[in-house]
Order: sequence, then C-alpha cells, then structure tokens
Amino acid sequence: MSFTEVRVLRLAVVTGLALALAVGAASAQEAPFPGDLLKNAAVKAALDGAKASETQTIADQIRFCEIPAPPFKEEVRGRELQRVFEQLGLQNVRVDKVGNVLGDYAGAAQRPRVVIAAHLDTVFPEGTDVKVKREGSVLHGPGIGDDCRGLAVLVAIVREMKKAKVQMPGTVTFVANVGEEGLGDLRGVKELFGATLKDQIDRFVSIDGTGVHVTNVAVGSHRYRVAFKGPGGHSFGAFGLANPIGAMGRAIAKIEEMQVPKSPKTTFNVGRIGGGTSVNSIPFDGWMEVDMRSSDPASLAAVDANFQKAVDAAVAEENQRWAKPGMITVVKELVGDRPAGSTPENSPIVRAGISAATALGFSANLGEGSTDSNIPMSMKIPAITIGGGGRGREAHALSESFDTTDSWMGTQHALLLTVALAQK
Ligand SMILES: [Zn+2]
Repeated sequence: MSFTEVRVLRLAVVTGLALALAVGAASAQEAPFPGDLLKNAAVKAALDGAKASETQTIADQIRFCEIPAPPFKEEVRGRELQRVFEQLGLQNVRVDKVGNVLGDYAGAAQRPRVVIAAHLDTVFPEGTDVKVKREGSVLHGPGIGDDCRGLAVLVAIVREMKKAKVQMPGTVTFVANVGEEGLGDLRGVKELFGATLKDQIDRFVSIDGTGVHVTNVAVGSHRYRVAFKGPGGHSFGAFGLANPIGAMGRAIAKIEEMQVPKSPKTTFNVGRIGGGTSVNSIPFDGWMEVDMRSSDPASLAAVDANFQKAVDAAVAEENQRWAKPGMITVVKELVGDRPAGSTPENSPIVRAGISAATALGFSANLGEGSTDSNIPMSMKIPAITIGGGGRGREAHALSESFDTTDSWMGTQHALLLTVALAQK
C-alpha cells in the first residue's frame, strides 16, 4: 500500500450525541451504528477475545511474514492462509484463478456480502531474508507491517468471531488476495470484482498496513515502461546515428518541466532507466519507467497526455538533430493502471469505519492512498481501507518494522467494523 493521512476527520471530535445522530440517520438504510453492537454479548466476547489473544495475532503475523511472497509468487503464503481458513472453520474455502484465497463466514443470508481482504504479496524479490527479529515491542522484517499485519488481523477476526459464535444477517467473505503491490497492479482485486465474485460484493474493506485509519480516497496511477529503439553502432565509426538514450534524455528533460496541480495533488516520477551495451557503442535501446498519480481522474488523464506529448516530441527532436527521420522509435507500454476514485466522507461505510473506532474509545483519521480499494471505489462500490493497528515504519524497505504496542486496537477496530458491515 501507500497511504497518507491527510485530514483529521472533524466528526471524530464532534460531541458523542451529534455523532450518534449523524451516523444513526445513515444507518437506518445501510449500516448500524457500531456502538449498538457492543450490547451484543457475542460481539462483546469476540472483541474481548481479540484483545486477549493479541499475542496469537502477533505470532501469526511473524509466521506469515517468514514465508516469502515476492510479486507474482504468493502461492506458498497463500497455501498457509488456505490451511488456516480451513482450520478455523470458514466455509467454501477456495483459491481462484489468479491465486486469491477465499473463505466464507456464512450469515443468515447471502446478502449483504461483505469482503474483508488483506494482501499476500510483498514488494521484496525472491531471496530476500524474511526472518523476523524482535527488539522489545518492535518487530523487524520486510513485509511485517505491509501486509502481514493485515493478514494476521484478518485471521484474528475469523478466529474470535468463530470462538464467540457471532451471528450476522449478512455473509462475510474473507480474502487473502494476490497482486496489490507494484507491477502486481491490483490483479487480485481486479479478478475478484471482475470474475470471482462479480456483482456479489456489497461492501469491501481492505486491511492494509498499520495504525488505525480509514482510507476513503483512492489515488490513481498510470505507470509506463517506455522503450526507445534505434539501429545502434560504433561510437566513433557510426557517429551521426540518432541515439535512443539521447531521445530518452530529451524526454526526461521535458517530463521534469511538466506542470501539475497542487490540488488535487498530481505527481510524476521517472523512477528507473536503463539501456545501452557499452561506453563505446551508440546504444540500440534505452528504457525508462514512469509513474504518474492523482486522486482525480481528470488530472491523471491530463498529466498522462502531457507525458505522451513529451516523449513523442523528444523522439522527433532526436531524429531531427541528426537528420534521421524515423530512426528512433518508441513504445510506451502501460504496465500499471490503478483507477482513481473515492468513497464519500458521509457514506455509511466511511461513517461505520470512523464510528467503530470511536465506539471502542479511540479515533481514526481519514486518509488517501493507493490500495486494493481503488478498484471498488472506481466502480462506486462502497469501499475503504483500514490499518491493522500498531505502528509501522519504513514499509517497502528492508528495514521495515512494526511496533506492537497496543496493536490490539487495530484488531478490535477491524472486527467491530466487519460485524457492523454485515448487518442489513
Ligand atoms: Zn500493502
């Protein structure tokens, strides 16, 4: 995931009565005020269990983290989640075409169907040392927060709801999904919403990363791999050929000059480059990877259009410089396409996310990010991403860490929200 807390929700500091009224009004149609659920003995028992068994949740988090799950190679970790889902008694445990692991917690009816998901994959390549090291309350390990925390909380919800025999009107499908990170390009949730559970998901929550927060704005992104090609030749003998890396340099210079709005925040980055074979050869290729982001679909489309223009103009200039029309060619391959979107602040699912926290005595901030919820948000299906509690640091770095202090708050928050969303 990538996540930024951008706003402290005013609602969270409004008086309790006003909050209850505001949420109560919306809940009549869609989701109840999670605070009311605290009166339910089974729910209360599950919440107490979630706190009491946090040691187990942390042990799961470490175990999942020590099973490598590089991009496109989530299978082994997926099998462990499948085993746990079966052991805990979820129904219809299955693995779909792309490797998502699903299991149902059946309610009185099939609908509403709530999906609670956490992603299996990490950004770390094969061969990364994934052994978790403990230092007091802090766990060190690549992927320990993002998203082994989410997976462990997912399992804790199932475990404690089963133990307390929580009954719900609707059905919850728990999903350990593939392909959230990087070039995985949300392929797990794309499959989930496009095929596996097409038209069957009423509410979606992704537990991704750490802290207690509610992400309701999906930052969209376009990512390209841009390949410049030319004939190449000897640096001295063939001097005068147009140069693919020359064209790429011109393109990068133009991209760096692009103007983007501050609000909605819109960004661009040339993140990787490569090409060529030796210092004394005119290269036959050059390539770069470019990432552009915005929470606003129109701004994302605009920065993308400017990027396309910059690359095309750069190629034309390089060919013109050497009077070699058509010598350098370029292919811009879209390797990442995460749609932008949002779930309104006053929607029942966002209110439920916030009030589940306040009902438990803590608070959750609203934020924006690029997560699995981008897909349902872009489809206007109610969706949020929440944190799994604790405090994460340096996600996506080998030095990633997770502070377990009071991490049970995230487990309780996710559990109460799950039950609240499975109401009529
Ligand atoms: Zn993540």
